[in-house]
Amino acid sequence: MRLRNIPGAREEMLVNPFIVQEPARLRGRWHEEFGNDRPIRIEIGMGKGQFLLTLAQRNPGINYIGIEKYSSVLLRALTKQEELKLPNLRLIRYDAETIDEVFGDGEVDRIYLNFSDPWPKDRHAKRRLTSDRFLARYAKILAAAGCVEFKTDNVDLFDFSLEEAAANGWTLSYVTRDLHSEPEAETNVTTEYEDRFSAKGNPICKMIITRDQPREQ
Ligand code: SAM
Repeated sequence: MRLRNIPGAREEMLVNPFIVQEPARLRGRWHEEFGNDRPIRIEIGMGKGQFLLTLAQRNPGINYIGIEKYSSVLLRALTKQEELKLPNLRLIRYDAETIDEVFGDGEVDRIYLNFSDPWPKDRHAKRRLTSDRFLARYAKILAAAGCVEFKTDNVDLFDFSLEEAAANGWTLSYVTRDLHSEPEAETNVTTEYEDRFSAKGNPICKMIITRDQPREQ
């Protein structure tokens, strides 16, 4: 997936109008960027963008921001957005390690994590996007009624994520270990990885977690 070597990808990111440059300058002011007060939902690690572009097309009343670490991957999403020119979608090349420097407290309505890198070695557990360090950042930027939606086919990562959420005071509002057999499958928007893994016969796990603790002032 890390198509790091597409020539010119990084340069394209610097000049393309659909890519928000220096996103931290908009911290707490993303509604000005969109020109409305509609909810803001973000996907961290959006990859080539199938999921978020579909949501943005279906839900023009919601603002979406796709975040991806690698220019060469984001370029694929950008190419689709250049065709569609969706007014409710922005893209950012950014490492989510410091996501709370890009969004203000309570600014985000929902966070999507789809097929995040599993980082299977114990010593790399802190890099998982559902580790306690990341959950603490999400708790800061999420609105009081906000949630994190996470999908994966990786059972070890899913178990880890459930444990981290419970240990850090989040409430589990939905869980399944076979999303595509549930009634929710009808409205489920799939990602590139989801299509690939479910075609191989892997069940798709999903959890939705909410913050159940008041935000510290
Ligand atoms: N979400 C897509 C899907 O389901 O098809 C892509 C999944 S891919 C396994 C994980 C993606 O997350 C990669 O494109 C990777 O570059 C991105 N990623 C991993 N860590 C990240 C981070 N800290 N910040 C932003 N993106 C990250």
